[in-house]
Amino acid sequence: MPDMRDSVDHLRPLNLPAQISVYTADRKDRFGYQDWPDNPLIRAERRRLRAWLSTNIPIQWGKRVTGITYDDNGVTVSFEDGSSAKGDILVGADGINSIVRQHLINRSAKDLQNVIPLATTIGELDLSGETFKRHLALGHSGIMCIRPDLGFVSFAGLHYVNPDGLSGHYYWNLMEYDSNVAKPDHWLQTASKQEKLDRALKITEKLSPELREIFELTKPEQIRDEQHIWRDLEIESLPAGRVVLMGDAAHAMMPIRGEGGYHTLVDSLVLGERLGELAQEDKFKDPIALRQIVTKYNDGLIGRGLQAVRDSRRLDLNATRFGPDGKPLPEGKAPTLKPLPDVDIVLGVAA
Ligand SMILES: Cc1cc2nc3c(=O)[nH]c(=O)nc-3n(C[C@H](O)[C@H](O)[C@H](O)COP(=O)(O)OP(=O)(O)OC[C@H]3O[C@@H](n4cnc5c(N)ncnc54)[C@H](O)[C@@H]3O)c2cc1C
Repeated sequence: MPDMRDSVDHLRPLNLPAQISVYTADRKDRFGYQDWPDNPLIRAERRRLRAWLSTNIPIQWGKRVTGITYDDNGVTVSFEDGSSAKGDILVGADGINSIVRQHLINRSAKDLQNVIPLATTIGELDLSGETFKRHLALGHSGIMCIRPDLGFVSFAGLHYVNPDGLSGHYYWNLMEYDSNVAKPDHWLQTASKQEKLDRALKITEKLSPELREIFELTKPEQIRDEQHIWRDLEIESLPAGRVVLMGDAAHAMMPIRGEGGYHTLVDSLVLGERLGELAQEDKFKDPIALRQIVTKYNDGLIGRGLQAVRDSRRLDLNATRFGPDGKPLPEGKAPTLKPLPDVDIVLGVAA
């Protein structure tokens, strides 16, 4: 495999460590998470991560699962294009609206999902030159403002740096506490882009000028049209058989603690290990051995997943983080909030 960090780092070609800074009402210093040698943090750009994960794996794109049948002998998956595939195990890594989960536990996504009471406005824009430098200086990878006193939490994230290293693509999510967010007549359903932007500028007006700049630089056409409603889900039991779940299909959560993708990777590592045990003993066809292995996997998945979903809801950055064995991660293994150093920001490819 190519080196993961080099392949997926969203700050490339800049020579800066991943860093998420946190701004609150009561702390004046710059603090947050950073990629330190003794406390590593990788911030991956989604397309690069996907390309890296695809190394040496033949993938058939554009296959939409529509049906699943399984028994003690195997699983058959049907696709929208009329084709089908057979195997020993089906891993449903098909996200929060998982069709695999629906077949497995016979509950619709709508029935399972909980609404997170945050009304969200999303903007996307490129920043370049001195403006780009100023935002990198505020937080290389992202800038989080946690302001319950002003009624919102915001995250302005660098998505990727353009190949010349002189500009970057940013997105921001401005999330207001709002228990009515999923109501059909919610104002975000009908608001124009200009109205959403005006509202964003109004509720952020008490932020310091440098933290507010990204909202002010956004043009109405850079505001996302459709309303995004955050949802999570809690699964408390899963049948053990030839169909398993991983990732958001099993434990979709609020991204504020940056853990959904982490737990998805942990799921895949743990499942890989469990399936390796089966393969070693050549027991894929043995329904009892398979059930035992999947029960073990499901127990870990559910316990770790439930904990993470509940912690994500509390927006508690200090809550303990858990490892593949379901135990708290030791110091140095979990991202830790620390004061952040100020460094010279140099743009360009040779930076
Ligand atoms: C704004 C935002 C920021 C985030 N930030 C972080 C972060 O900093 N750190 C972190 O760890 N996590 C983060 N997350 C969470 C992370 O993105 C998810 O937890 C992770 O992507 C889940 O991976 P997954 O493979 O389970 O699901 P997904 O990434 O949702 O992938 C599911 C895949 O299944 C496919 N699919 C769906 N239905 C079907 C079907 N019927 N047939 C075939 N294919 C299907 C979809 O097309 C998709 O490719 C963030 C999420 C969001 C939204």
